[in-house]
Amino acid sequence: MPGSRKKKNAVSKNKTSESLETKPVKKASPLTPEEVNLYKSSLVQKKKELISSISNLSESVIDSTSGELSTLPQHLADAAINTYENYVSLNLAEETANLLRDIDSCLQKIQEGVYGLCENCTKPILKKRLKVVPYTRLCIDCQHAEESNK
Ligand SMILES: [Zn+2]
Repeated sequence: MPGSRKKKNAVSKNKTSESLETKPVKKASPLTPEEVNLYKSSLVQKKKELISSISNLSESVIDSTSGELSTLPQHLADAAINTYENYVSLNLAEETANLLRDIDSCLQKIQEGVYGLCENCTKPILKKRLKVVPYTRLCIDCQHAEESNK
């Protein structure tokens, strides 16, 4: 039987020199790591939903139109499908794409440790707002200002 392993006590460090370490004066996320993880998983979940909704969308377009269009000459049928697909993707996927961009930029901010701060005024975004729209980039004030500018 091998002898019991004993952990050697680490060499005692000089604590005063450690506490003198300079901290970067960068705005940090107001959220705890647990909260960030929670928002991160809901962002990832939302992203998955959006991506699958895009692929479902294009599949359903082809399925629902193939029956009727089969009576048309092939090149017309193709043209009709293309037009309809373009129409659908322009109107619905643009919104989805914007949302995906917001989600990606939030995931990026989580990595940088600045998630939960307003992109515009850098103030913390209210937690109850993040719960409803975890992919928001702006605090409620800046969001209102941006909307009224449109
Ligand atoms: Zn703001």
